[in-house]
Amino acid sequence: ITIDAPVTLRDAAKLFNQDLDDIIIRLADWNIIFDTRNPLPPLALEKLAREQGWEIEWKEDVKKKILEAISFEPQPRPPVVTILGHVDHGKTTLLDAIRKSRVAESELGGITQKIGAYQIEINGQKITFIDTPGHEAFTSMRARGAQVTDIAVLVVAADDGVMPQTEEAIQHARAADVPIIVAINKIDKPGANPDRVKQQLAERGLVPEEWGGETICVNISALQKKGIAELLEMILLQAELLELKARKEGHAVGTTIESRIDRGKGPVATVIVQEGTLRVGDYFVAGTTWGKVRSLFNDLGKPMKEAEPSTPVEVVGFTDLPPAGTKLMVTESEKIARIIAERRAEIAREKNLKTPERELISLEELFAREEGKTKEVNLLLKADFQGSLEAVEKAVSQLSTDEVKLNVIYKGVGNVTEADVMLASASSGVIIGFNVKLPNEVAKTAKREKVDVRTYRIIYDLIEDLQRAIQGMKEPVK
Ligand code: GDP
Repeated sequence: ITIDAPVTLRDAAKLFNQDLDDIIIRLADWNIIFDTRNPLPPLALEKLAREQGWEIEWKEDVKKKILEAISFEPQPRPPVVTILGHVDHGKTTLLDAIRKSRVAESELGGITQKIGAYQIEINGQKITFIDTPGHEAFTSMRARGAQVTDIAVLVVAADDGVMPQTEEAIQHARAADVPIIVAINKIDKPGANPDRVKQQLAERGLVPEEWGGETICVNISALQKKGIAELLEMILLQAELLELKARKEGHAVGTTIESRIDRGKGPVATVIVQEGTLRVGDYFVAGTTWGKVRSLFNDLGKPMKEAEPSTPVEVVGFTDLPPAGTKLMVTESEKIARIIAERRAEIAREKNLKTPERELISLEELFAREEGKTKEVNLLLKADFQGSLEAVEKAVSQLSTDEVKLNVIYKGVGNVTEADVMLASASSGVIIGFNVKLPNEVAKTAKREKVDVRTYRIIYDLIEDLQRAIQGMKEPVK
């Protein structure tokens, strides 16, 4: 079909012979929520048409005109930062030190509300910090399809150096493609040796800038609040390089990072706004729940009228609790928010009735799923010792062929953990364990997250199994 003028929802309903509501719901399935007073976004129309087996042909510059009418120029936005690092290396202390460094706090006498994230301002520039440190929370959000973090600050204690969770954190941040800034902490301690930390980081591919690499390292003492200003400056510098932008106008889209039932306010959730501006009075849908923004509070407990991109706000007005990592989208009316949420809830119920256990994405399926020339498969390797881990990695690397590329996105020593499963889930990967255990609890999580975990005792079995999976997906020889 040829489109020679902008198509409204009403036009589309006629064209496809469908209910207005059905079209709205269908578009929401694809995460497209649009203002029905505007023409349909071209992409939405193309997708709807394709469903009917039609191809759309745009007349002249109709598509361009629609896009011009419905899109907004992206504006710079503040970075969203997560703090990662080994236990006891000072993540919480650092978050507190930064929180206290903010200017606004003095105005309010230091009453901070823990809402899961906070924002500070230095020299007129804002930075948002996620208040739950550690890669577990970071990756489990990602496993639900939500990535809000732009920059990871890796805390390494100068007296302790790189530890197992430091390595994990590096690999998790890398898998998420999030740049890392290193904060070498506890430099006030007598045993502090920042150079040794830098050496250890360089060995893991994080070569400090002053050694010709690209990794920004800052020496700090979170306890004595030293080096904090410099660290914040480096975060802003990194943010500038990333050219973070979002549109400010139009309906807000955000992600919930925390939710709870408040005695007075009912279900509330902290949302990081990602696009548009969230305002009091807006109707919204968030997963299978919906609501109207009754009030917004910032992390100082101060009521706000609106929240722009990268701002964390506590939203009051949900009909039900949304889980962390749920996408929130503003709709133009209560009715639209409600029908989308109800439809999603219905689909979720149907799915649960039909398949109580969601199906697993197995190694073979991963190989088969990818299309195109080179097929890539993400693997996470776990082994009992460093030596055996290296042997497994070497064997696996030799299995890659022209058609199939095996990416080791993570490797570690020890039993399979929940964090491994979440990373596999977030990266659509398979876990390969060698001489390690899969604890019952972790096996349950793996089942829930649809992650294939394979453990082997003999390296030959491991190789054979992978080879078989690779063979199975190769194009048949003609
Ligand atoms: P987390 O587990 O990474 O969140 O670590 P915490 O922030 O809880 O800190 C662990 C311990 O290290 C606490 O006793 C802190 O007081 C201490 N600590 C944190 N930062 C520093 C620092 O810069 N210097 C010194 N001397 N101790 C610190």
